[in-house]
Amino acid sequence: MIKQDYLIKAVDNDKQVRIILASTTGLVEEAHRRHNTSATASAALGRVLTAALMMGSDLKGEEDALTLRVNGDGAAGSIVATVDAAGNGRALISSPQADLPSRMPGKLDVGGLVGKNGYLEVITDLGLRQSFTGRVNLLSGEIAEDLAQYYSQSEQIPSLVSLGVLVDRDLSIKSAGGLIIQAMPGAGDDILEHLEKNVTRMGPISEAVQNSESLEQVLVAVMNGIPYHQIEERELAFKCKCSSTRLAVILSGLSSEELADIYKENGRLEVTCNFCNEAYSFTMEEIEALKNKKPKI
Ligand SMILES: [Zn+2]
Repeated sequence: MIKQDYLIKAVDNDKQVRIILASTTGLVEEAHRRHNTSATASAALGRVLTAALMMGSDLKGEEDALTLRVNGDGAAGSIVATVDAAGNGRALISSPQADLPSRMPGKLDVGGLVGKNGYLEVITDLGLRQSFTGRVNLLSGEIAEDLAQYYSQSEQIPSLVSLGVLVDRDLSIKSAGGLIIQAMPGAGDDILEHLEKNVTRMGPISEAVQNSESLEQVLVAVMNGIPYHQIEERELAFKCKCSSTRLAVILSGLSSEELADIYKENGRLEVTCNFCNEAYSFTMEEIEALKNKKPKI
């Protein structure tokens, strides 16, 4: 069992393909715990968050961010994950309690919960410099296939994507991980076929994470017969950007009348972060003090 949440990248010695491997059991468990997700919702949320963290591994700047949004017509509603260049990610799902019976033993119906009609969208925000959005229609709602389609349609990169989350009987996360193989320009069909065979032999990535000691060990199985070298390693974590200060600023933007209404209803000023479900509460005096500090325009 791989205990640490991290990712590694590698290329073959002829630079025909690039491989990203991630183990995310701990951070998917945290996402499940924070959002109190059903088994199938955990799998859907975990796959989207794992995919976003792997995609975000190309970000460089401190302010850079990547958002992966999956919006299908299933009961899950929309699923959104946002990650930064330091390997921190956070994620939300509209209906965390929505669930479906398994289609077969041990196979959660993620595609059914997400739905087929809808889109997968990637927003890359490179600080102040630029941001761009790519969007493709969903293929199956299983996420991995949809992401492979995004790479081929939107970025013209033939890719093999595998994402997996194993959920235990008590709803805790047994293992989670992801694999992305991308063909570089000029990559031969031979190497791609070879890799596909290796991946098929290896089996689901969630099981590889469960049955291996390290991602390096999984990489050996993926690259079996192909000389390669590892190029990067980075830690991954579930970490939200919200803070008491940030949310107080949002509250201080409301009028005194609006604040008084919320206060009357709840007996306190409380805001919950959508991304991590952390609740922050303030006294009326704290918010009023902040309002007075803000420059009047
Ligand atoms: Zn938060």
